[in-house]
Amino acid sequence: MAIPGGSNVMTATDAPLQQPSIAWQTGRVQAIVAETSRVKSIILQPANWSGHWPGQHVDIRLTADDGYQAERSYSIASPPEEKLLALTVERVEDGEVSSYLLDELRVGDTLEFRGPIGWHFIWSQTRGGPICLVAGGTGITPLMAMLRHRTRSLAPIPASLIYSARSLAEIVYRDELDTMARDDRDLRLVYALTREHPGDWNGHRGRVNAALLAENSFTREQNPTFFICGPTGFVEGISSMLVKLGFDPLAIRTERFGPTGA
Ligand SMILES: Cc1cc2nc3c(=O)[nH]c(=O)nc-3n(C[C@H](O)[C@H](O)[C@H](O)COP(=O)(O)OP(=O)(O)OC[C@H]3O[C@@H](n4cnc5c(N)ncnc54)[C@H](O)[C@@H]3O)c2cc1C
Repeated sequence: MAIPGGSNVMTATDAPLQQPSIAWQTGRVQAIVAETSRVKSIILQPANWSGHWPGQHVDIRLTADDGYQAERSYSIASPPEEKLLALTVERVEDGEVSSYLLDELRVGDTLEFRGPIGWHFIWSQTRGGPICLVAGGTGITPLMAMLRHRTRSLAPIPASLIYSARSLAEIVYRDELDTMARDDRDLRLVYALTREHPGDWNGHRGRVNAALLAENSFTREQNPTFFICGPTGFVEGISSMLVKLGFDPLAIRTERFGPTGA
């Protein structure tokens, strides 16, 4: 398929989908990037990778010296066009796996993981738009894979991102998002700051509400697809507001990160 404005080369997402192997494999940590005071991105070089769709995740497995194992899921933040896998991990207080990944893991270490996993919460430029992405905290991660892919594929698909964070300092990928929105008329970017905002903040203050959604999520006639990701309570609240606004429930895709909705 030809990419508008691009070359006629095949991309990972043009290729027919193959059922990926979910065997455990290892990846080498190539880089660790501090994104905010509570969040780091881990850049992994997989030993062997079949490619992924934006929105998919991997499982990470840690094994202690005594054989005890812990597994957790982490969304893939990198687009399918990249060979390295980026995972973005937020600190959960006393969290078993996130604490290890943020405090102990070093460049050059190997991590055991499997994937890609998840076939419901995926989007690529071949699926078209418009798309409305709604993120709570690190729920931005799989949505970032979609936005990075959208930019790489040069697809002028109308998109909006409504991103709820506690403060400006807690917005993950903020510079990259601001640059994307500045350079792309078809992308609307809205931050909702729930706890702290600069005195001169002109953006939304407080939680995402129905008015903010209605204003920034296209019209019902435009038939947008929604991708909502974040803590359980956030995802459920946004979904029910969208249904009340009259959007098709079947066009609302969700991914929940936290077990408690905290
Ligand atoms: C499909 C999927 C994708 C995910 N992608 C990401 C991602 O990209 N980045 C990311 O940081 N996390 C992501 N998560 C969450 C991640 O899998 C872990 O749940 C999280 O890192 C906490 O694990 P832990 O071992 O550190 O904490 P645990 O030891 O499991 O939990 C410690 C305590 O914190 C509570 N808790 C656990 N998780 C959360 C949470 N998310 N918020 C608040 N309290 C919590 C527990 O109930 C417990 O009380 C994803 C989850 C799913 C299901």
